Amino acid sequence: MERSQYSVSVDAVEIDDDFWSPWIDRNREVTVEYQYEQLEESGALENFRRAAEGEEGGFSGMWFQDSDAYKWLEAASYELAKGEDADAGEDPGLHERVDEVVELVAAAQEADGYLNTYFQLVEPGGKWTNLHLMHELYCGGHLIEAAVAHYEATGEESLLDVATAFADHVDDVFPEEVDGVPGHEEIELALVKLYRVTDEQRYLDLAEYFVDLRGHDDRLAWETAHLDEIAGHEYGQLPQGRGDEIMDAAQNLFFDDGEYDGSYAQAHAPVREQSSTEGHSVRAMYLYAAVTDLVAERGDEELWAAMERLWENMTTRRMYVTGGIGPEHAHEGFTEDYDLPNETAYAETCAAIGSIFWNQRLFERTTDPKYADLIERTLYNGFLAGVSMDGTEFFYVNPLASSGDHHRKGWFTCACCPPNAARLFASLGAYLYSAVEGELYVDQYVGSTLETTVDGVEIELTQSSALPWDGSVEITVEAEEPVPVNLRIPEWCDEATVTVDGGEIRHDSAGYVRLEHDWDGETVALRFEQETQLLRAHPAVEDDAGRVAVERGPLVYCAEAVDNDRPLHHHSVPVGADVTENHDPELLSGVTTLTADATVPTLEGWDERLYRPATESDSTETELELVPYYAWDNREAGAMQVWHRSDSA
Ligand code: ZN
Repeated sequence: MERSQYSVSVDAVEIDDDFWSPWIDRNREVTVEYQYEQLEESGALENFRRAAEGEEGGFSGMWFQDSDAYKWLEAASYELAKGEDADAGEDPGLHERVDEVVELVAAAQEADGYLNTYFQLVEPGGKWTNLHLMHELYCGGHLIEAAVAHYEATGEESLLDVATAFADHVDDVFPEEVDGVPGHEEIELALVKLYRVTDEQRYLDLAEYFVDLRGHDDRLAWETAHLDEIAGHEYGQLPQGRGDEIMDAAQNLFFDDGEYDGSYAQAHAPVREQSSTEGHSVRAMYLYAAVTDLVAERGDEELWAAMERLWENMTTRRMYVTGGIGPEHAHEGFTEDYDLPNETAYAETCAAIGSIFWNQRLFERTTDPKYADLIERTLYNGFLAGVSMDGTEFFYVNPLASSGDHHRKGWFTCACCPPNAARLFASLGAYLYSAVEGELYVDQYVGSTLETTVDGVEIELTQSSALPWDGSVEITVEAEEPVPVNLRIPEWCDEATVTVDGGEIRHDSAGYVRLEHDWDGETVALRFEQETQLLRAHPAVEDDAGRVAVERGPLVYCAEAVDNDRPLHHHSVPVGADVTENHDPELLSGVTTLTADATVPTLEGWDERLYRPATESDSTETELELVPYYAWDNREAGAMQVWHRSDSA
């Protein structure tokens, strides 16, 4: 039996949405193309060519460069799955280029299934000796994800054969020859995907082995104490390795005060005992996604309890209001409860994407709307800010305040975020609906058509949505037999009105409206009231003390210097401030802007003075102009902030 990653596959959904379609089209027309060019420019494809020809040396890029090619193959495969005449006007077409890269990857694979061009070209004798840093299993995981997407899109087994040969090789090596876990999780969730398309239990067993060994395994500690005996040094000697500078910096992440510390790779304790999100946040999200998959397959209640604990810890103590996670730069990850600095926030775009992967799995296991709510928050804010509005520049780091010197860049030496964003945009359709236990769930309000089966019953659904600017949604449903349809009431909505062909059902709390109906083309109209809200952070969050953030519907707003005459830090937004909204179709491809009543200090009487007695007449009234956070840094460079002073606090 073959099952897709989620209950509704990419090809079952066609998105046609005023807000999201331009992003998705740019992703297809600009980002995926640009990424392909980068594969050649960065030397990623040349690495495969050289490996295929049995050459030695001459490796380009970071040691995990292969993963860029795999992520491109995955994103391109989703585009092929959607089949929107993907090759129109291009020479060579997308399918042809995918075929060429697949051939190249297949040609580079060794006879025993091994595939990693860094080791093949640079350290052929050092395979599987440096699990904590050298990312063979990480790259292999992306190979498998690409192969599953490619197989599901095209029905061709060319890349799937490469992936299964690789997985079989890993299955031969682990644990008999090498008993250890990778320093960067990714292979685990990939092996579950591979199991789901091949029905081969051994891939699921292998995923379970890697998950269960983490935190019990002392191989990571052993490696860090025996650096002379493991691979990695040769990389330091390559021009891009900068004389071990990069390797030394990477090694340091596994140490705390000179002692080995596995928390960077979530290896400080067995997963089932963990209760706080630790270490590198992308690694953590990929691990938890895999664990949630395992729970879905094997029903391990102890692992499930760990997932619930970790989610609570992350969402109530360690997450930005944008859904971004991982505040610290050095470890690219989590620190302590309530440590959420704004200007120095890390909040990597990949971590937001990883959180979406994890939450979709949590949602499909429980249908608890809190997970879909978090996906919505992360999609519109922490994720979307990562991509420029022309689709060619990317944030790796997503601060919530800037003095004006943080800008998106075209590509990165470590190019993880752009291709990760591309594969999420390309597969966004898979996040809009779920079919769980005979019921259909509308998880996200994005204009689209859905054609799928729910427990064997064919269902067709058409959705139009005015989100995020207006809370009006219309859904038309046709089904062969009655299928309950559940409509999420977003967390930000205090009052929702639902009508089916004119008859009104009112609901005013968060959760779902469940409609049982003989669906014969009836139209469900939803109206979500979108009040602008001022938010406070928990008092323990030092950076947000005495501050408010502004939210409207699913969007977090920010102030940018380009819209405000006075420096942003002058403004104070009182609780209860009037906020007016204005939709400007010309600005930033069309956004609803907000104008909040605010005060700023008077500037009179300061000549030649640095201090003076405080008086009540020190401030004067003004307004603070706000735009959606995702849209910042798309105009004239300048300061930005999400959390605004609120002196009445
Ligand atoms: Zn990244």
